[in-house]
Amino acid sequence: MLVDTCPRCGARAQFEVVWIGKPGSWSRERYPAALVCIACGSPVAGDVSERGHHILGLWADRVTGKEFPDVPRHIAETADEAHRCHSIKAYRAAVLLARSVIEATAKEKEITNGSLIKKIDEMFDRRLIREHVKDGAHEVRHLGNDMAHGDFIDPVDAEESGLILTLMSELLEEVFQSVARVQRARDLRAAKVTGSGA
Ligand SMILES: [Zn+2]
Repeated sequence: MLVDTCPRCGARAQFEVVWIGKPGSWSRERYPAALVCIACGSPVAGDVSERGHHILGLWADRVTGKEFPDVPRHIAETADEAHRCHSIKAYRAAVLLARSVIEATAKEKEITNGSLIKKIDEMFDRRLIREHVKDGAHEVRHLGNDMAHGDFIDPVDAEESGLILTLMSELLEEVFQSVARVQRARDLRAAKVTGSGA
C-alpha cells in the first residue's frame, strides 16, 4: 500500500499516484511522481518505484520549525533551524545544530572556557539546569561530537533526531523560557501591588 507521512497535513496517510515520470540519470530505480494525499487531498511530489507500487520518498516542500519566544534571538533561530532540518529529514544537520544551540546557551551565560563537556557541567554547577537536563545535554553532545569530528559512520534516524531536539528544547526551556515565565509572574504581582497601593 502507498502509505507515508504527508508533508502537507502531517498525517500518516494513503497516497494515490496520478503521474509517473522517467527516472533521472542519477538513479534508475527512482521515478519522479505526482501523488495525492487521500487524507487532505493535497498534491505532493515524490519518488516512487517503477510502476508506482512503492513510495521511495516524498518531497517536503513545507518545512516546519519551532518558536522559542523567550530565548535570545540568535539561539532561538538556530534551534528553529534545527527543527526545520528535522522536518525535511536532514537529521545529521539537525543534530549538529542542536549541539551548537547547547554551546551557544552556555556562552550566553558567560560560560566560555574549556570543552563542551565542561561547559555543560558548569551550567549544572551554577544551578542553571537540573541534573536530568544536564544528562540530556550530554546526550546531544555525544551524538553531535561524533559528527562534528567527521564520524558519519552511523546514520541518524528520525527517532534519534527527534529525541535530540526534545533534549535541546528542554535545555532552552530550563535556562530561558521557564525563567522568563517566573519573571512575568513577578512583574504581574508587582504591578498589582503598585496598582492597589498596598
Ligand atoms: Zn495530507
